[in-house]
Amino acid sequence: MPRGSDSPDADAPPGASPDWAGDSDLWDVIVVGAGPAGSTAARTAALGGARVLLLDRARFPRYKTCGGGLLGESLALIPEAARATIESSVQETVFTDRFRRPFTLRRPAAYLAMVRRQEFDQALVDAAVEAGVHFVDGVAVRGIEETERMPAAAPDGLGGTAEPRCAAGSHPTVTVRTDRGSASARVLIGADGAGGRIGRYVGVDLGGIDLGLEDEVAMPSDDSGWRDRVFLDWGAAAGSYAWVFPKRDSLTVGVIQRKGSPDETRDYLAAWRSHLGLTDAATLHSSGHLTQWRTTASPLRRGQVIVAGESAGLLEPWTREGISFALRSGAWAGEAAAAATTRTGAGIGVATTLAAATTLADADADADADADAGAGAGADAGAATAHGTAASAALDTYVARVRAVLEPEQVVGDRILAAFERRRGLVHALLRTPAGARYFVRFCRGETTLARLAKHRVVMRVVRALS
Ligand SMILES: Cc1cc2nc3c(=O)[nH]c(=O)nc-3n(C[C@H](O)[C@H](O)[C@H](O)COP(=O)(O)OP(=O)(O)OC[C@H]3O[C@@H](n4cnc5c(N)ncnc54)[C@H](O)[C@@H]3O)c2cc1C
Repeated sequence: MPRGSDSPDADAPPGASPDWAGDSDLWDVIVVGAGPAGSTAARTAALGGARVLLLDRARFPRYKTCGGGLLGESLALIPEAARATIESSVQETVFTDRFRRPFTLRRPAAYLAMVRRQEFDQALVDAAVEAGVHFVDGVAVRGIEETERMPAAAPDGLGGTAEPRCAAGSHPTVTVRTDRGSASARVLIGADGAGGRIGRYVGVDLGGIDLGLEDEVAMPSDDSGWRDRVFLDWGAAAGSYAWVFPKRDSLTVGVIQRKGSPDETRDYLAAWRSHLGLTDAATLHSSGHLTQWRTTASPLRRGQVIVAGESAGLLEPWTREGISFALRSGAWAGEAAAAATTRTGAGIGVATTLAAATTLADADADADADADAGAGAGADAGAATAHGTAASAALDTYVARVRAVLEPEQVVGDRILAAFERRRGLVHALLRTPAGARYFVRFCRGETTLARLAKHRVVMRVVRALS
């Protein structure tokens, strides 16, 4: 077991609280969910100087229903150990429209990477542990509660901290209730994926929910046509599509469409396998999972709780690409949480590009100056207030960053999805053009984003007209 990790079996006497739980200790940051968003948030917060507890209800390494397709955008954000889990690098995509009108887009150099999520997510967790995160798997969070916590001498049994970080006055605290005890922190990051509890607590408002179904099948023995090649089909149901993503020894065969017609979704998967001649290929794993995306008005923060990744509905609505959204929002959430909970974290960067940074830096400077001067209780209370304001501003920088960078990508993705739902055949034809193919490859390589596409007036006029 890696350093700093924990699992249910590793614990002492039955009934005793595990060492990470209990009222007497206060974590800087608790992260719920150890997918790409959670482990990245935890690692970034720890690197920013925060004491971080990362919880996941699954035992790791865990299976995750996902194509495992990684854009260049994601490759740029992951540690080397996660990059080492790449099993296939795609140079060729075969497109079909309801199994017809095939065409192939081939490039001499690879433009899309493929991972199996159990290895990829484990590598990200290991990197978080390496950075000092305390990881506990097999622990389900059942509920959360925000309270004001008093300093150590609090007489009312509220559970003061052993080492109170605010010299005077109370400070907001989040307590998570799990099936193995409770734990508290100054900031909670919800990264518990689609349908997660923390997203519900924050009030995430969803613009759409899809059902994805996948079969992991053994690589056919005559594998010449499968390796390093992706297959994509646009389905008959509005917005649906199917894929084959190659791995080292297997193929991930999947379909996705709006939630609500599970029989139709299953039929599409069976027809897709049949079309590809994969009906009789050995099925290693069959599973399904929901994906979800937020409306632009949807909140990302409630009090000391922020949400990242799919818990926040951060996903591109057309391709349903979610890993780059999880990695980016996770990193920003971790930076903001470190800035909100530690003095060193306040200087690590997220805030520097945003307006709220000024407030944060000024308030922290005030707090430091007060502390250095050895001021009395009144000054301490002022410092605590200033630090509280700074902490709040730090969390707001997270919200501002998601709104500035990820939201525009989601808005464009949503428009393209609307166009795709109405004029699927035209989207197929556009991808066949040299400009469409070029854009697709650049998008996969992370050389451009949908937000940048939005600045292209002619393209957006066409998309608007179609949608
Ligand atoms: C069929 C399908 C195919 C996809 N293919 C791709 C693809 O090829 N490329 C791509 O970029 N995206 C793809 N996606 C989307 C992608 O899988 C998600 O967007 C991504 O996994 C989101 O990461 P996350 O860290 O936010 O959440 P997740 O990866 O979902 O992680 C959430 C974690 O939270 C844990 N958790 C949940 N509830 C609790 C709780 N109460 N207590 C403790 N832990 C909890 C879970 O065990 C899980 O480990 C696909 C999605 C589906 C459904």
